[in-house]
Amino acid sequence: MNNWERLSSKEIKNLQEDFLNWYDQNRRNLPWRENHDPYRIWISEIMLQQTRVVTVIDYFYRFMAAFPDIATLAVAPEEQLLKIWEGLGYYSRARNIQAAAKEMVEKFNGQMPRTLPEIASLKGIGPYTAGAIASIAFGLPEPAIDGNVMRVVSRLFEIDADIAKPASRKVFDQGMRQILPKTAPGDFNQAMMDLGSSICTPKSPNCAVCPLQNYCLAYQKGNQENYPVKTKKQPPKPMYYLAFAIENSEQEYGLIQRGEQGLLAKMWTFPLLEVTKEEYQRYQRSYNTGQLELERTADLDFVAEEALPELPNLAIDLGNVVWQTRHLGEISHIFSHLKWQVLLFYGRQIQENSPSDQVRWVSAHDFPNFVFPKPQQKLVALLQKNGAISKDF
Ligand code: SF4
Repeated sequence: MNNWERLSSKEIKNLQEDFLNWYDQNRRNLPWRENHDPYRIWISEIMLQQTRVVTVIDYFYRFMAAFPDIATLAVAPEEQLLKIWEGLGYYSRARNIQAAAKEMVEKFNGQMPRTLPEIASLKGIGPYTAGAIASIAFGLPEPAIDGNVMRVVSRLFEIDADIAKPASRKVFDQGMRQILPKTAPGDFNQAMMDLGSSICTPKSPNCAVCPLQNYCLAYQKGNQENYPVKTKKQPPKPMYYLAFAIENSEQEYGLIQRGEQGLLAKMWTFPLLEVTKEEYQRYQRSYNTGQLELERTADLDFVAEEALPELPNLAIDLGNVVWQTRHLGEISHIFSHLKWQVLLFYGRQIQENSPSDQVRWVSAHDFPNFVFPKPQQKLVALLQKNGAISKDF
């Protein structure tokens, strides 16, 4: 028998009342909680995936100002959408949002559908988000189970199921359904979210002020920190890149648009070249060797006299370039499953490339008009720090 099945209906009722009273008095005032508009709830829940509430708030306001309803979002230019999303990361979320908006226009009269299976059928809406929309916007008794909620429920009922395994979700779903009230499921789910993020935290939960203290089995046994059970995630896979900030005679930089599919699809970056770890380490060490083939001129005084002899030939024609001998430093960026390590080189173009659709030359003043993913933003900051471009563009 699972521990939640031991609760009497009186205990469940008391738990629900205590928890909802606590929520009434302690709920966080968040812009998407001002009403029960399913559109606002949906967008906020997608933004909140992998992202902190404080970060999301500004993005949410900007998003709502630009796309006040599903119909506007469905026909928005993708570049505009990605620009608003810039910096939030996980850009496939933004693309999925627009795909789902189009589906709603085509199949649901431009409205969020009102049943769980229909909501869950929309692109980018998983079980958690579907449960949140169904319960908060439409009052359906559906649990919304994310990592925070699994932590609370695992402690409440001493659940040993490994939260890293997708199959364990079913166990938490059953536990939550046992205590979810039919009358205010949306508030109850939001109370769980708030409790998980502010009181029942991963380390040192603040049980002294917890409204579920009287019902919590882990608290009663003092073993809160044994829950949730979670097998270790694989560390993100390291990937190594060289990045090339190449400036032409008009003080413009060569940017490349990434392919249609895959990580950071269609976003703009400096040219990047993937290398092995060994090659990367060699480039870290081996600057300051070799001879530059040109004579140094006043115009090239930023470029040192020596160049990396073996800086690789990019598959893209970027003209003839002389390189500054020292790299400008490195940045790292973690995507959920990958860790990018990027070494930045600066070069000046001394002979133009042949006209090409692959390369766009852009002045640093115009960078804000492009959608730059986080690693590219960090590379631009590195360029600024090293004085290769003005700090106030
Ligand atoms: S009593 Fe402590 S461990 Fe239990 S739900 Fe509350 S904060 Fe979490």
